Amino acid sequence: MLCCFQLEAQFLDEHCGQQAISTFYELNNAVVINQRNEIENFTQDWIKNYQEQPFQNREVVTIPVVVHVVWHHAEENIPDLQIESQIDATNADFRKLNANLNALPTEFFDKAVDVEIEFCLATVDPFGNATNGITRTETFYENIATTFAPGNELRIFQDDLGGKDGWPPNKYLNIWVGSTGGFPLGFACMPGTCPALEDGVIVDPLVFGTTCNTKAPFNLGRTTTHEIGHFFNLNHIWGSDSDECEEDDLVEDTPLQDGPHFGCPNYPISSCGSNDMFVNYMDYSDDECLAMFTEGQKLRMLAALNGPRSGLLTSNGCGLINPSPRSLNNNSILIFPNPVRECLHIDVDIDNQTPILITLHNAMGQRLFTSTNTPDDVRSVDVTSLVPGVYFVNFEVGNQSVTKRIVVE
Ligand SMILES: [Zn+2]
Repeated sequence: MLCCFQLEAQFLDEHCGQQAISTFYELNNAVVINQRNEIENFTQDWIKNYQEQPFQNREVVTIPVVVHVVWHHAEENIPDLQIESQIDATNADFRKLNANLNALPTEFFDKAVDVEIEFCLATVDPFGNATNGITRTETFYENIATTFAPGNELRIFQDDLGGKDGWPPNKYLNIWVGSTGGFPLGFACMPGTCPALEDGVIVDPLVFGTTCNTKAPFNLGRTTTHEIGHFFNLNHIWGSDSDECEEDDLVEDTPLQDGPHFGCPNYPISSCGSNDMFVNYMDYSDDECLAMFTEGQKLRMLAALNGPRSGLLTSNGCGLINPSPRSLNNNSILIFPNPVRECLHIDVDIDNQTPILITLHNAMGQRLFTSTNTPDDVRSVDVTSLVPGVYFVNFEVGNQSVTKRIVVE
């Protein structure tokens, strides 16, 4: 297991923690590094193909969002209004409807695009039940978003650690709102970087939304816009943290830049032989000075949506409720991630609290594990001791029975 201290040290003095998260998960981890390389190759190919088809029509895509508010101090339990104001602000930013667009210098105004992605608070939860797209969890821990459990996992991601389990990340954009203690303002997982249960966006409540408790100069919701950019595979506009002109963000139409900007710089400001695009959402300037994504960034995000994030395109998260009987059936059991490497997460949603018998079989039909729990007590199963392969998990209540197939990597 990687040690958290390095992550903690890097993380806490950064404006955005994405680079620290990427470094943490990529360090000595060939699987993650390979995944990231594959995703980058896919991205470059997808963009190339897309650019060769100039007349295609595409529809605006709407991404279902669930906001998990995990709070310790009462003021961190931010009101629905503040959450809704964030969704509105991010929609405006992504659709080029932001109020400060006209303040852009002409050089950059001409490069600002409508990304054609929108966000909605989920109306249907993973079980098919109605939801307002917001969960609320009171926690024992201060600064839950930057507090580690003894196993070096961030507590905010898991019920059992004092946080909140995410919803399946291939169907929802999970946004955890929890105190970071000030820095970073937020962080996010690039596709293919984090374990499924941590795959989403984390933002401090003081910079989430545009109303109520938000704190200037980060009170226009652009920390979240920035972190969602990472979630859809955007790098910081200056590349990595190296303060060099050689590092690029892998986007053609953003200028090379030697590092981040803070506050609100006066235009023009230059490095690496061109004017810095400090007004780009992927820089660190104050919210009031951030106003645009470019076409190149849009293409990277669309590539992510058609590749590693494609599950979001078929999500019913903002659709209509399917009235389903809440008895034991295929839809009342949720298992993820699948394939699984470490911890299999199981949620059972049925009306009665009759104990449920869970058994695990291998492909030969041998029973390896049996447990009887009430539905509310069914949680995670550690599969690290299992040989990679196909397994079957059976759930039984009375004469009802459901079997799920899982793959252990
Ligand atoms: Zn960032």
